[in-house]
Amino acid sequence: MRDALGRLVGSEHVLEPAHDSPYNSDCARRRGVDGRADAVVLPGSAREVAEVVRWCYAHDVAIVPRGGGTGLTGGAVPTQGGVVCSLERLRAVRALAPELWRMEVEAGVSTRHVQRLARENGLFFAPDPGASEVSQIGGNVATNAGGPHALKYGVTGHWVMGLEAVLAPGELVELGGWLRKDVAGYDLKSVLIGSEGTLGVITAVRLGLLPAPEAAIALVVFLRTRAEGCQAILDVLASGVRASALDFIDAQVLAAVAGGYPGTIPPDAGFALLSEVDGTRAEAQAQSEALVELLAPGAVAIEQPAGARELWRWRDGFNGVVTGVRGAKVSEDVVLPVERLAEGLERFEGIAQRHGLRSCAWGHGGEGNVHATVLVDPASERELDEAEAVVEELFALTVSLGGSITGEHGVGWLKRGRLASQWPARAVALHEELKRAFDPKGLLNPGKKLAR
Ligand SMILES: Cc1cc2nc3c(=O)[nH]c(=O)nc-3n(C[C@H](O)[C@H](O)[C@H](O)COP(=O)(O)OP(=O)(O)OC[C@H]3O[C@@H](n4cnc5c(N)ncnc54)[C@H](O)[C@@H]3O)c2cc1C
Repeated sequence: MRDALGRLVGSEHVLEPAHDSPYNSDCARRRGVDGRADAVVLPGSAREVAEVVRWCYAHDVAIVPRGGGTGLTGGAVPTQGGVVCSLERLRAVRALAPELWRMEVEAGVSTRHVQRLARENGLFFAPDPGASEVSQIGGNVATNAGGPHALKYGVTGHWVMGLEAVLAPGELVELGGWLRKDVAGYDLKSVLIGSEGTLGVITAVRLGLLPAPEAAIALVVFLRTRAEGCQAILDVLASGVRASALDFIDAQVLAAVAGGYPGTIPPDAGFALLSEVDGTRAEAQAQSEALVELLAPGAVAIEQPAGARELWRWRDGFNGVVTGVRGAKVSEDVVLPVERLAEGLERFEGIAQRHGLRSCAWGHGGEGNVHATVLVDPASERELDEAEAVVEELFALTVSLGGSITGEHGVGWLKRGRLASQWPARAVALHEELKRAFDPKGLLNPGKKLAR
């Protein structure tokens, strides 16, 4: 296999991964997800990706597309062996047209580089998922990633105008393009967005951009209780102020991350909102004043940190700090209907307590997207098992409240088969029919997402 693949991409670009090779895992390793690739290929062009897929398809070998490996659900892990196809060498910026607000980049370009290129040209690429230094734009499209600013600007897919992808049995195709309006067909590019490598390998992405907002103003609103905090989120939504971000932090997370906060956390704060408004300087100012007027009567305190960037850097650090509280954590990115956020958070805490574990939560409050987290001692098998039991009940709770098992990290390996619990049977069957249409042999990232 490696000789044949070497003839396609050059033998120096075919690796035989050792057991502990990073290509055998992703960021779900701490949840016990591991695989063993038969080979890792690093194609240098979209054409070479097509040749690799063609060879694999002809020889009934599984193909696992891999971006930056920052996924949290084992999506890029070769859990059933096969060929890991890493896009890391596809790094070209194919087109950049600031005057038309768009760029085309290859799949292996890092998210941060896309953001930087846009910024350097007076534009703005809005999606801001947390691992942007390492994640790739292809991986972001494949998982339809989002971050705090998805509240106003939407997730990655919102900004994809077109895709170049290799489809089975090894054909390079373009789906969508540069047109600003095109309603002619089924929206095939959107079928690939969020498909987690199960329908094709994305080789390049055409992105729409925005003129950069002139100003952004961040506010931190401290509230006494979870109930008051969740009500404040609903009040902001009802007010009509279009916040670009409206994240929440519960009391447990606040206590853990207090040291890094660029200000002072009031002692009676039991919940906090991180909000941002943007636009022209005047618009941002007017919106932030409206938020202060709305929230001040019920708040313990409202702070306006000097720089929005500093605040989001603090926010980006939560994951690591919370992990450090007990040495490890088990976390899921469920979405609750925003009007049932308070109820969902309270019941999640109750579930963890029943299992004898500490929990905490933070997330994108305006969208009801919760990082529901159980803190565990990594040396305790009992706690790890109990945490998985908590997660099981969390998913059941989420579905019963009308929510979704994932708002950011995708389904991957860890949540495979769970879509059946939240969708009607016909919707699941349609997904399976689509999978068969794109991948009749079932070789593209097998065992992930839909697998029952
Ligand atoms: C610290 C941290 C913070 C994070 N924060 C966020 C966040 O705020 N929001 C969020 O949404 N996610 C977040 N994530 C999860 C992760 O970063 C995203 O899912 C990201 O989009 C994955 O991109 P990647 O390039 O690393 O893809 P990988 O992990 O390599 O792959 C993810 C999935 O996409 C598929 N895939 C990758 N590239 C391609 C391609 N070119 N063609 C087809 N399929 C492909 C893989 O097969 C796999 O199923 C975070 C992860 C970490 C570790």
